[in-house]
Amino acid sequence: MKLITFSVFIKLLIIQYLSVLCVSEDFDFFYFVQQWPGSYCDTKHSCCYPRTGKPAADFGIHGLWPQNKDGSYPQNCNRDSSLNEDQISDLTSSLQKDWPSLSCPSSTGFRFWSHEWEKHGTCAESEEIDQHGYFEAALKLKEKANLLQALKSAGIHALPVIYTAFFPRLKESLPSATASNNHGLRKKNMVQELNQTMDFMTWAA
Ligand code: 5GP
Repeated sequence: MKLITFSVFIKLLIIQYLSVLCVSEDFDFFYFVQQWPGSYCDTKHSCCYPRTGKPAADFGIHGLWPQNKDGSYPQNCNRDSSLNEDQISDLTSSLQKDWPSLSCPSSTGFRFWSHEWEKHGTCAESEEIDQHGYFEAALKLKEKANLLQALKSAGIHALPVIYTAFFPRLKESLPSATASNNHGLRKKNMVQELNQTMDFMTWAA
């Protein structure tokens, strides 16, 4: 079958393009990035279940990344700002569920969240967005985006992997989305990213 001729893509990143209303002058918008666990694991590098157990067959958050219109993005904006576990203690169980780390060795996820905070979150830090606000916003965005439902609406049910051939159907249920490879990720015949324009303030409210 033709579907099979498509390579399984290494990792499906759903990028959601979030316009930012005056949150910061240092970047233009956010990418909200979600990964499909089966795709992350279908790579040359191995993957490990989080210490909290096998993640649900659902997208997991990869990150919330400040971006510029020209394709550049700021990173590591405050090397003095490490993620403080106490700041996000009330979010930990939700983060373990919705933002699991699949890299090896198995972890609780805190190292992944710390990396994302240090590399990307520090560039979004502002009066409106502190560490707690950053992670809380990402969790809310995931809930509101409900990409698993979007897949189901497209007739695509939870699969270990997702094929590029499914993408046109996925777009039907996410009409505002556009495909993008602008993070230079892996293989040409894979759908790696989906950019969806959203209003950050509305979505994260
Ligand atoms: P990025 O720099 O692309 O924002 O984040 C990738 C970094 O997070 C890599 O160092 C990777 O090893 C680490 N990481 C830990 N867990 C995960 C995971 O589940 N998915 C991805 N993509 N990276 C992870």
